[in-house]
Amino acid sequence: MSRARSFTHQSLPQRVVMGPGVLSRLPDEIDAAGLKRVLVLCSPSREALGEAVAQLIGDRSAGVHPHARMHVPVESAAAARDRVAELGADGCVAVGGGSAIGLGKAIALELGLKIIAVPTTYAGSEMTSVWGLTEDGRKRTGKDLRVLPVSVLYDPELTLGLPAAVSVTSGMNAIAHAVEALYAPDASPIISLMAEEGVRALAAALPAVAADGKDLPARADAQYGAWLCGSCLGATTMSLHHKLCHALGGTLDLPHAETHTVVLPHALAYNQAAAPDAVAALRRALGGDDDPATALWGLARRLGAPASLRELGMEKAAIGRIAEQVLAHPYANPRQVTADGLTDLLGRAWAGEPPTARSTC
Ligand code: NAD
Repeated sequence: MSRARSFTHQSLPQRVVMGPGVLSRLPDEIDAAGLKRVLVLCSPSREALGEAVAQLIGDRSAGVHPHARMHVPVESAAAARDRVAELGADGCVAVGGGSAIGLGKAIALELGLKIIAVPTTYAGSEMTSVWGLTEDGRKRTGKDLRVLPVSVLYDPELTLGLPAAVSVTSGMNAIAHAVEALYAPDASPIISLMAEEGVRALAAALPAVAADGKDLPARADAQYGAWLCGSCLGATTMSLHHKLCHALGGTLDLPHAETHTVVLPHALAYNQAAAPDAVAALRRALGGDDDPATALWGLARRLGAPASLRELGMEKAAIGRIAEQVLAHPYANPRQVTADGLTDLLGRAWAGEPPTARSTC
């Protein structure tokens, strides 16, 4: 018997170009977007790639701005906007992870310029209209279609040098987007299909990527999964897991992808009993006999990812503060979030304990 379905799905207006070597199509993408002189944005450690991209696009380059920082400090956004004005750029190409793309979004938010994204991690920011800015240690976020990159080029060759540890945690960060999309209040059938396929692709590719970072087919599969998972993030409202990571990253300055990796099995264990359809999809995607939270925990252990918030630098005493923050401004969640449940969940994540029945009771 088929169930009556009820949902709203909004597609985001965006071009996606994927495949080995597609970076060479960047000049065409810039022309297709109607841009004449773009500023190339990247993190300091990716300056050589930024310069290579500027060389590739020739006269279309206004220059390279290699000053992207994690969580987009407002000062860094202001400096980048000044550089855009000084060079007369009419758009930006953001090359790198969520930090470079986040800087592009901060420019687009104020100046309304178009962005083209060339992602080199699996974080997924390129597929969302979510922006973030950090001021006085507090991160503000919002949604605005102006910050959605008009075009995204996924070239797996650019990810061959992403270190194994970063690849694993960045991939788990992507999987978290898909997990929460499966039980989001605004989940839809097409996004659930993308989420299941995204988790399947990444869970299969990450062990091969961790074993040999230069394995191009595995890199291409991981990037394909990251695209799907990022699309899920862009299309739905996030729940407890993202709220926890937002609080931990914003308040305690814990590293983004590593925090997602540690928290995900615990947040999922907390929600599993209240999200049977999501659990069924994740079981199909992850295979094996374990429940999905245990399967993701096992995957992270096999790939050598950090297991605890303690090893990421969190003090145990901060658990109460984070729980209070999450309870004060809760996100939608399939299971009611209680102080006891949160304290137990954070205690396990802090200590690096496996996600067991206690965090689901
Ligand atoms: P990141 O962009 O800071 O990259 C991590 C490090 O890896 C950087 O030093 C970078 O230069 C380096 N790097 C990137 N690609 C590389 C490659 N191919 N080879 C070698 N080194 C490489 O980190 P991230 O995890 O990609 O992004 C995190 C940021 O993105 C956070 O600020 C987070 O809040 C934001 N984010 C935003 C959204 C959104 O929708 N707005 C989604 C996900 C993440």
